[in-house]
Amino acid sequence: MKKAAIATLMLLSALAVGQVAPGAPGRTIGDFANVPEPPAQTLIRCGTLIDGQSGPRKQMSIVLDGTKIKEVLPSIHDGLGPSGTIGHLIRGEVIDLSNETCLPGLIDVHTHVLLQGDITAEDYDRQLLKWSPEYRTILGTQSARKALEYGFTTIRDLETEGAGYADVDIKKAINGGVIPGPRMQVATRSFDVTGAYPLLGYAPNVPVPHGVQVCDGADECRKAVREQIMYGADWIKVYSDRSYYIDPKPPAGITPAPALNDIPTFTMDELRAMVDEAHRQRHKVASHATAYNGVHNSVEAGIDTIEHGDYISDADLKLMIQKGTYYVPTLYVGEYVAEGRAKAGAPVWLDMIKISADTFRRAVKAGVKIAFGTDAGGFDWNINPAIEFELRVKYGQTPPEALRSATVTAAELLGMQKDVGSIEPGKLADIVAVKGDPLADITALEHVDFVMKGGVVYKKP
Ligand SMILES: [Zn+2]
Repeated sequence: MKKAAIATLMLLSALAVGQVAPGAPGRTIGDFANVPEPPAQTLIRCGTLIDGQSGPRKQMSIVLDGTKIKEVLPSIHDGLGPSGTIGHLIRGEVIDLSNETCLPGLIDVHTHVLLQGDITAEDYDRQLLKWSPEYRTILGTQSARKALEYGFTTIRDLETEGAGYADVDIKKAINGGVIPGPRMQVATRSFDVTGAYPLLGYAPNVPVPHGVQVCDGADECRKAVREQIMYGADWIKVYSDRSYYIDPKPPAGITPAPALNDIPTFTMDELRAMVDEAHRQRHKVASHATAYNGVHNSVEAGIDTIEHGDYISDADLKLMIQKGTYYVPTLYVGEYVAEGRAKAGAPVWLDMIKISADTFRRAVKAGVKIAFGTDAGGFDWNINPAIEFELRVKYGQTPPEALRSATVTAAELLGMQKDVGSIEPGKLADIVAVKGDPLADITALEHVDFVMKGGVVYKKP
């Protein structure tokens, strides 16, 4: 068995990141020339298995049929003979993770592969003014590879921040086996109104790029949604608020006070038009909504996911439960940018750390659907986005709840629950592993040492 395992690992090392398997004979050079192909059958032996649906089980085996999971069974029944012969596997590879905990591939539903950290306006402006979209795309391919190596086998990338439709191309290159990376759903350019989103503060006679697509008025915004979908947007993203402040006189009856308030960007007419057009074409809408008006208007307009949600009133949490709206808090990035933004003249960001922790606690208690998103790219891609798990547990989720938010719940948010989010027969073989017990110490998820996507190994211990 040992010999077989070593041989398998050597063979698998050829499939490690950066060396995709050659395409099948007869394929033409083009979009799908290099799709990595998994072995016909694979057996993974796990010390512990957390399948995403039930509690942890010891000494389990996962049988794969190509890209998919065929069977999950106790290792004593996996048919692996004592001398290395494989019982019911016809022609298979064996991956020995008997000292590891196997988990479903992690999902981050809020990333920016085309952004490389933006604490201050200066950081952001530099990327849009001094780096070409082509150079940013090259960096984006690196970010995508890093996400996969961290154990995120699926991501929802929530806008390119001025890099056009480059996310559609990165997704295409990953699906075509040109570069390694996670499965992606992409939002392309995102939307805001005139005067609300960087680059701002330049002289009126100096044309500068925008970090979003600007639209004003219900008809123009509806048309713009059609345009983004035409060019490959899976999701529509809108910015529904800006300019945050602690409201000394929060709107009457709004609890808890003091409310973090904002300037709402879109009118309700504009928001409703965008949501209607996206839903009409069976696409979903994510809303960057940080404070009171942004969240309230978004939920009222029927938006599918609330991003950040630093302040959400008790009444809006109730409304989110009624409507099935997902909450995607981003606790780590808030802490990451706070000091720098306070120094740059916006001390409200320091208060927002406490406000967002309080909102998170109330949302957990209320039972809102919470998915795992990090805003990676808003912070440096050299920081593992899994650092977000620690804060989720610190502020009120149990480790199983935090893990569920990044697997089953995230898969549901993406509408991919039939394919990913748990280790079950029929699903895609997106599997990661860590040493130790992530349910006892959630920081174990920051040290994923085995990554498989669609039956192909991209990282191994
Ligand atoms: Zn973001």
